[in-house]
Amino acid sequence: MAALTVCPYCGTGCQIIVNDLRNGERVIGYSKSLVNEGKLCIKGSSGLSYNFSRERLKYPFVKRGEGFVRASWDSAIEETSRRLTDIVNKYGPDSVAFLSSAKSTNEENFLMQKIARMTGTNNVDHCARSCHSPTALGLITTLGAGAATGSIKSLEDSRTFFVIGSNTTEQHPIIGTKIMNELKRGKNLIVADPRTTQLAEIATIHLRFKPGTDTALLNSLMFVILKEHLEDEEFIKGRTQGFEELEREIEKYSPEITESITGVKPDAIREAAVMIAKEKPTSILYAMGITQHIHGTENVMSVSNLSLITGNVGVRGSGIFPLRGQNNVQGSSDMGALSEWYPGYVPVDSPKVSDLENVWKKDLPRKKGLTLSEMFDAASDGKIRAMYVMGENPLVTEAAVSDVEKGIDNLELLVVQDIFMTLTAGVADIVLPAATSLEKEGTFTNTERRIQKVNKVYDCPGEAMPDWWILNEIGKRVAGTKDYSSPKEIFEEICRVVPSYSGATYENIYPNGKQWPIDSANPEGTEVLHGSTFPIGRAKLVPIAYGPPAEMVDAKYNFIMTTGRNYYHWHSGTMTRKTDILQRESPSSYAEINVDDAKKLGIRNSQNITIESRHGSIETKAILTDKIPSGIIFVPFHFDESRVNRLVGKSLDPLSKMPEYKVVAVRLVV
Ligand code: SF4
Repeated sequence: MAALTVCPYCGTGCQIIVNDLRNGERVIGYSKSLVNEGKLCIKGSSGLSYNFSRERLKYPFVKRGEGFVRASWDSAIEETSRRLTDIVNKYGPDSVAFLSSAKSTNEENFLMQKIARMTGTNNVDHCARSCHSPTALGLITTLGAGAATGSIKSLEDSRTFFVIGSNTTEQHPIIGTKIMNELKRGKNLIVADPRTTQLAEIATIHLRFKPGTDTALLNSLMFVILKEHLEDEEFIKGRTQGFEELEREIEKYSPEITESITGVKPDAIREAAVMIAKEKPTSILYAMGITQHIHGTENVMSVSNLSLITGNVGVRGSGIFPLRGQNNVQGSSDMGALSEWYPGYVPVDSPKVSDLENVWKKDLPRKKGLTLSEMFDAASDGKIRAMYVMGENPLVTEAAVSDVEKGIDNLELLVVQDIFMTLTAGVADIVLPAATSLEKEGTFTNTERRIQKVNKVYDCPGEAMPDWWILNEIGKRVAGTKDYSSPKEIFEEICRVVPSYSGATYENIYPNGKQWPIDSANPEGTEVLHGSTFPIGRAKLVPIAYGPPAEMVDAKYNFIMTTGRNYYHWHSGTMTRKTDILQRESPSSYAEINVDDAKKLGIRNSQNITIESRHGSIETKAILTDKIPSGIIFVPFHFDESRVNRLVGKSLDPLSKMPEYKVVAVRLVV
């Protein structure tokens, strides 16, 4: 019964040994894991009972009239395939959109994007669009690889940690714990965050900056470093390009000028800048606080600039660590489940696409597809007629939810493949019951590029089937994809077409996983990237001018709302809210409000309030705290009965199409 597999929640990718949980046995952290060394947070240790929930989807359902009727697999697959094919024949392949999933395996993501591409469209995307698409684009532009440059283990060699836009102890608790342990060994910690997070409380320096002013703060840190001549001249000269242009932009961001933008005292900026440059090696860790902005890609490139000018790349203990949200954000992006990239980050308009055409024996589309953030408007406009959603719940997770609803209403066909009847599945035409990650095999790639084997522990309930099996049945009927016999066969194809996976096999990545690139030059994988060269030769320094967020406060909307996750729940709560222990700890929606602001407005702790933005309103409960500055509120997005994304507008990062989840002007109505 006991099996070694990977935690289904955050991108840390902790390895777990799962026993017979239904008989009271416990999940154990794998003590020899290079990722978590036996440790687990509450989600990994006590968050898996959703697998046995009575609410699991067990049979296919099709909509008849106003309700669902149970269907056999044969008829559900036949109807899905026929209706998708009819829509493609009638309106063309770009009338269909595919939503892949960072919760699914590499094999499943690879297969879904292959079905889309072989149908003739690049309209395939997934939730990385809403978390780390700026990382992929930003770091590919500056370094040539859109991934963490080191390993979790290598953080032990850092002398300084700079954490910006990441509530690490809540979102990636095992990495947060690692940093806390390192602090006991005398390391330095700088935290840049508007909120007083757990790490901010113990940080050597807390830069409490205003939401949306990241590039001004980062530019000012670089201003001080250059003025004090603390840059790594040898690294800049030998390994980067574009320094003069960067220097010209940085000139504008003295700490005094920057204080008026960020609210951070000049002395704190100076002290932090000196620490980053002098107390090396420094690792920079960031998450959605950096990426979920209309300047998300610029924020990422700015982080990269800071790392590069201080020579903090390519050395163990230094580097850039984009902390991935879901378990397989890195892998699903590597697999090309993004509308602008084929597997291995080959741009859709690159001549290299012909290599894939030769393997798949099919002409492939070369035009960029629609991003997740664009698909629902296209559905409202009648350009998208059918949507196939695997393991995603866009009615909860996407920005501008009212427009998502309109788009979905206008579809001729919505197919949802999931483990529960989510809000989105509830409005589908066809619902296909899927396996959880404990009920199938495959691979996940974690936040440090480690490809890890996922192993089956339990049988699926009822007639639920693994995503890869369902996709395989539909793909061969709709797109003429190969009839795969196992996830292993799909993985072997991945390793043929994605160079950084080329040396991996199911056997050689077990049990500890390996960090890509795994190839003939690096058969054991690569712990630290960019040691002597970058994939693009010299790294690019990109001058970034500060630009304000899309929404500003005014007399009416006088608070800034920032959204995010809490310790107990994950994403749209599909799994964690079906897990008793986690649901007990955090049962319902809330908004964190500064105590003084609450006093002025006459709001008591736990009082029901209405939050209104220029885009919508929700009701929730006020939680008063001094850990959030005056003028800012924080609302987690896990709760479908109070969907915070109703309040988020449609402004997008023009480069990555990331919505601005982190800065929304709102008002509080008591
Ligand atoms: Fe799972 Fe992330 Fe917790 Fe590890 S840190 S146990 S991967 S949720």
